[in-house]
Amino acid sequence: MQTWPLPLWTSWRSRTVQGVMFVGDAGSFINAITGGGIYTAMVTGQLAAQQALHVIDGTTPDQPYDMAWHPAVGKSLRTAHLIQRYVAPSALLFDTVLAIASLKPVRHPLLKALSGEHY
Ligand SMILES: Cc1cc2nc3c(=O)[nH]c(=O)nc-3n(C[C@H](O)[C@H](O)[C@H](O)COP(=O)(O)OP(=O)(O)OC[C@H]3O[C@@H](n4cnc5c(N)ncnc54)[C@H](O)[C@@H]3O)c2cc1C
Repeated sequence: MQTWPLPLWTSWRSRTVQGVMFVGDAGSFINAITGGGIYTAMVTGQLAAQQALHVIDGTTPDQPYDMAWHPAVGKSLRTAHLIQRYVAPSALLFDTVLAIASLKPVRHPLLKALSGEHY
C-alpha cells in the first residue's frame, strides 16, 4: 500500500491536462489551514462530471472546468492560502489573529471566510 500526505498547500495551476480533470485531493482542493477536503472533493467531482457530460453530449459548457471551480470553492482556498502564507509563519501574528478571532463579533464572519462557501 502506498500513501501520500494531504496537499496542504494551495495551487493556482491548471487542474486539467489533455483528457483529464483533477478533483478533490488529486487536484489539491484542500483547505490549507483546516485540512478540510470533503466538500471541495464533492463539488469539484460534480463539476468535472458536468463537464464530462457536455463532452459526451457534444455541447459547450458555460465555462471550462478550470474556471468553473473558482466561484464554487475558490474563495475559501484563497483565504486559507493567505493565512498560511502571511499569518502562520509568525507565531506572534498567528496568536494575535487567533485571539482576535475568538472575540464574539468577529468569530462568525472569520469562520465563515475560512471554512468557505458551505459554512
Ligand atoms: C486523518 C484525516 C482526517 C480528515 N478530516 C477531514 C475533515 O474532518 N473534514 C474534511 O473536510 N476533510 C478531512 N480530511 C480530508 C478528506 O478526507 C479528503 O480531502 C477527501 O477525502 C478527499 O476526497 P477525494 O475523493 O479527493 O480522495 P479520497 O477520499 O482519498 O478518495 C480517493 C479514492 O480513490 C481510491 N484509489 C486510489 N488509487 C486508486 C487506483 N489506482 N484505482 C482505484 N481506486 C484508487 C482510494 O482508495 C480512495 O478510495 C481528512 C483527511 C485525513 C487523512
